[in-house]
Amino acid sequence: MATHARDRFVLTVDGRSVETAKTIPVRNPATGEVFAEAPAADAADLDRAVAAASRAFPGWRDTPVADRKAAIIKAADLIDGEADALAALFTREQGRPLPGARAEIAGAAMWLKATTMLDIPVDVTEDTATRRIEVHHVPLGVVCGIVPWNFPVLLAAWKIGPALMAGNTLVLKPSPYTPLTTLRIAELIRDCFPAGVLNVICGGDELGPLMTAHPGFAKISFTGSTATGRRVMESAARDLKRITLELGGNDAAIILPDVDVDAVAEQLFEGAFHNTAQVCVATKRLYIHADIYDKLRDRLHELVRETPIGDGAQQGNRYGPIQNEAQYRRVIALLDDARASGLTLLEGQAVPERGYFVPLTLVDNPPDDARVVVEEAFGPVLPLLKFTDIDDVVTRANDTEYGLAGAVWSGDVEQATAIAHRLDTGTVWINQNLQSTPFTPLAGAKQSGFGQENGLPGLLEFTRPKSIYIPKSAAAA
Ligand code: NAD
Repeated sequence: MATHARDRFVLTVDGRSVETAKTIPVRNPATGEVFAEAPAADAADLDRAVAAASRAFPGWRDTPVADRKAAIIKAADLIDGEADALAALFTREQGRPLPGARAEIAGAAMWLKATTMLDIPVDVTEDTATRRIEVHHVPLGVVCGIVPWNFPVLLAAWKIGPALMAGNTLVLKPSPYTPLTTLRIAELIRDCFPAGVLNVICGGDELGPLMTAHPGFAKISFTGSTATGRRVMESAARDLKRITLELGGNDAAIILPDVDVDAVAEQLFEGAFHNTAQVCVATKRLYIHADIYDKLRDRLHELVRETPIGDGAQQGNRYGPIQNEAQYRRVIALLDDARASGLTLLEGQAVPERGYFVPLTLVDNPPDDARVVVEEAFGPVLPLLKFTDIDDVVTRANDTEYGLAGAVWSGDVEQATAIAHRLDTGTVWINQNLQSTPFTPLAGAKQSGFGQENGLPGLLEFTRPKSIYIPKSAAAA
């Protein structure tokens, strides 16, 4: 990155840097202060990016897949090579402490490489004396990728890798809250690809809707909230664009009475509060069997009290701030509502006055209809809920519009697996949480999503099937 001015951020369009007349301020959530300006693409910039991606599409589609894979691997190596500098920038804009920032950059590089280990199959549905029918999976064209602020780089990689490997070209938009690391990565890796194959633009709130309505896109791959996902789906309907929606969740973890409380408490804690609880698949409702409720609550309360929170750039802070002011205000409103409703809050350490910090907070056995139970907090507020009956807790866990992931914890893996089968979610973990792999689909049930990312099924979402009926020479004669 030595070749790029550190304080200037640019769009990448058609293989080149593009500056914009307008900019958007980017704040460090640990201080609330603006520390950089990001370019703000307008409709004309978007048109230029889509046009460049359209021009690049036929050549990239016809590039041998081995060469496409090699380009992605080269890009991954470049990202890895700059991981320290990218992580520092990441922490400044996203808020996560440096080790976690570093892990996300490395994870993005790993994920890009892992995607190249997948192969797009040609399915043969008939192969007889008279004919062979082949189903090819061909690229769609120009893909629109839209990414949120909680895992800005990893989730961008989840789109860049499969979209480009499948032979599409891409216009990617990071969140206006966390655009900088993604813009830097685009500068860093764009020369791995022919001009126009990878475009990264960012802008204000108006840019997302302009993108989803743009007729030049064949597909929208969107990660973000369920509310925005609905708007994306409506907008895509006009041109029947293909869509993948990875949306919100309100994940339940069910803790059976036979767990070793001391052994699992730390994992449950991290599963809820990782990235300051700004994880789509974080545990957001913790159902604890009555027999161990008090013991586990008290152990979690200890962990909450002893966990340091602060500026992610300073060593020793395990969790950082809420990423942006709007989200901070939503979480504070949820806490105010819980207090006003007379719920019992068990708070962690005091947090810095400046910046968007919220103390880690447990809510002691609130009613099922409390806002803090029903809504996706997307912040460090975890309701602990008591249960005694398995059928009842499964019903309560499933009683939500969301269906992203869930977890069951028990000494009896067989019993836990039986419960896992009864949860209406796209993923269930047993005695673990927050796991994902490049080879396993992440697919939300109900209003947590539409389609899937990762694994071969995720890769194939960037293609369409094309069936070719080939006569055998004898039959053709
Ligand atoms: P968001 O929906 O507000 O924004 C996501 C992205 O969409 C941003 O880039 C934003 O600029 C853009 N956008 C906003 N309005 C748009 C519109 N009308 N049309 C098109 N694009 C628009 O979400 P967020 O607050 O950035 O992220 C948090 C949410 O994302 C949480 O609900 C979380 O659960 C979810 N999430 C889901 C997954 C998953 O894989 N399922 C992963 C991470 C985050």
